[in-house]
Amino acid sequence: MRAQSSEVTPTTETVTTGSSGYVARPLIDGFPGKSSSHGAFGWSSLWLLDDGTRRVLIDAGQPAYVPLIHAGLERYGLTTDDVTDVLLTHMHWDHVSNFPMFANATIWVGERELRWAADQPSGTPFIPDLHVQELLRRASGVARMSGGQEVLPGIHAIDSPGHTPHHLAFYLERADEQRVFAGDAVKNIYELASSRVDSTLDADASVATIGALRSLLTDTGATLVPGHDVELRWADGEARRHHPQRAAIGYFADATRGEEDRSIG
Ligand SMILES: [Zn+2]
Repeated sequence: MRAQSSEVTPTTETVTTGSSGYVARPLIDGFPGKSSSHGAFGWSSLWLLDDGTRRVLIDAGQPAYVPLIHAGLERYGLTTDDVTDVLLTHMHWDHVSNFPMFANATIWVGERELRWAADQPSGTPFIPDLHVQELLRRASGVARMSGGQEVLPGIHAIDSPGHTPHHLAFYLERADEQRVFAGDAVKNIYELASSRVDSTLDADASVATIGALRSLLTDTGATLVPGHDVELRWADGEARRHHPQRAAIGYFADATRGEEDRSIG
């Protein structure tokens, strides 16, 4: 499947609500680390959009993020009950796992992505079977979306296939700072800069998707939030991080020394 540039052109119709727009903040910055010995790190990006009425999460993160989500919301005087919507880029465990935390939220899932994930056999890498089944089972609180749709006022879903066949990115139009939430269509700064992607089900589609998202950044002046990196700026054919990357990592090397700092960044 190839991404056509038309697939990433957001709808132009804008729904106005009287609010000036969303304020977007990272609850957890993604990290572009890779473990080749113990499976994926799954340190994905998790952002909060708040327009005073809605509090929208882009992706739900992986299981180890639970305390970070509570702490991140608390920084803004919020709890999990205040989240109104969760938009899922794709059906991988590190982006989906915590949607049950948000009891009052509508969980938005790509119609075609959910059907595709449900068709994969148990044991397919990165697909959380029970979460997929729960999204299919719920009669309320789950909404289906498609590429090209203005999912919420000023938030447009964009078809961005490759990493998964029906991956969705989101273009945040109604905000002081426009942003593209790329999910794993663009996982990190290297993928945006080089168009060389790691972990994709369709390499040609991924290259076409990155090209189309770059065009959207150029046309709109938006920044890009990758699936596993800090926010990026794209200008004059160069990708730059908004702020330095960092991960705090400790390691117990032997019986005597205790925890050692092996942080990155
Ligand atoms: Zn993924």
